[in-house]
Amino acid sequence: MKNPPAELIRRKRDGASLTADQIADLVSGIVDGSVSDAQIAAFAMAVCFRGMTLEECAALTRAMAGSGTVLDWSGAGLDGPVLDKHSTGGVGDKVSLILAPLVAACGGFVPMISGRGLGHTGGTLDKIGSIPGYDAAPDLDRFRAAVRAAGCAIVGQTAELAPADGRVYAIRDVTATVDSIPLITASILSKKLAAGPDALVMDVKVGGGAVLPSLETATALAESLYAVAEGAGLRTVVLLTDMSGALGFHVGNALEVREAIDVLTGRRREARLHEVTAALAGELLVLGGLARDAAEASRRVERALASGTAAERFARMVVALGGPGDLVERPERHLARAPVELPVLPDRAGVVGHVDARALGFLLLRLGGGRRRADDAVDPAVGLVEVRGVGDAVGRDRPLAVIHARSAAEAEAAAATLRQAMTITDGPAPAPVSPVIRRIGSQ
Ligand code: URA
Repeated sequence: MKNPPAELIRRKRDGASLTADQIADLVSGIVDGSVSDAQIAAFAMAVCFRGMTLEECAALTRAMAGSGTVLDWSGAGLDGPVLDKHSTGGVGDKVSLILAPLVAACGGFVPMISGRGLGHTGGTLDKIGSIPGYDAAPDLDRFRAAVRAAGCAIVGQTAELAPADGRVYAIRDVTATVDSIPLITASILSKKLAAGPDALVMDVKVGGGAVLPSLETATALAESLYAVAEGAGLRTVVLLTDMSGALGFHVGNALEVREAIDVLTGRRREARLHEVTAALAGELLVLGGLARDAAEASRRVERALASGTAAERFARMVVALGGPGDLVERPERHLARAPVELPVLPDRAGVVGHVDARALGFLLLRLGGGRRRADDAVDPAVGLVEVRGVGDAVGRDRPLAVIHARSAAEAEAAAATLRQAMTITDGPAPAPVSPVIRRIGSQ
């Protein structure tokens, strides 16, 4: 390294800005091991206190993106744009499972690198991991072949992509340095840039179930993500979407795969989940040149769902990565089911006035469907089915949700938490509002 790491840390600690060269130097030391864990922690803490300018954040993102393999799809023989989507994570957020095959059915190619859940928000990787035989950690050749064959592949982070972020994130996770907007921006976008897309949509969640619940902080993150992505030459739209209740009917890994299949096959769709999915997919189609405007994108999205082509792409992706060939036709044959199912009745009849989405996320975690520590195992079968949202009627024949648990005792404990997590009012039901709160993009 040209600069002693302690000198760069001291400069940041004292509120100075680092140059792009100094940041690149630090990142190369993170990758080759010449910067220690303690120094990474100290640097991350200095950034938490002092922040970063947009130029510094962009330099950190570029250096981390280039710290390993950067996928190049230009020679892969794909006859459409390479598109990607990222969500900051929420409760019941299975949008990626639907969006990737949906965009593939409309002519895009979606190599989606997804993450595991930690804390109260779920992770797409854990959901897709509930499909028996599905290889979520393929080598790059198998990943590329799956994208070619199905138009989409949802897999986990590999050691080759943005390895600097892998090291920094593990240290941030245990040093209270995750919630820094420049560090989150660089972490998310370095991985996205390394996957080599032509365009990106980002879903930044707002509300009780989101990682950054307040509108103010979520907006600051959204603006930072947009500015850095566009600055790096990646055409991007960011939507701020509501996470003040669970998204969709079900919460839990295999249960959410089941719900995604129901949406893709047209069996059933929950309105808010559909609105968020269609809005994000539509933005990608326009960004990728697959639709002229939002109206045409919306027509293409509806056609891909109604015709079964989106479901067919999902089935192809599952097969290309080693999963069962009849998952879409017979999900019950393959997806794990919990032994105990307990409908939870409300204390009184009425209308749901408020949902503590964060509490629902932790409820799933306590049932075994999430993880507190990075090395925890996740139970694919447990969760909540038919979760009611704000404005839904509940009563003797309309439970708050049905708990799927490993044991009766765990189900009873979860039932008590669920009753506390929902406030019942006398109504009337509030008028539905759009879950898409704000759009940040160029047109
Ligand atoms: N997700 C990431 O990938 N990185 C962060 O820093 C936070 C969320």
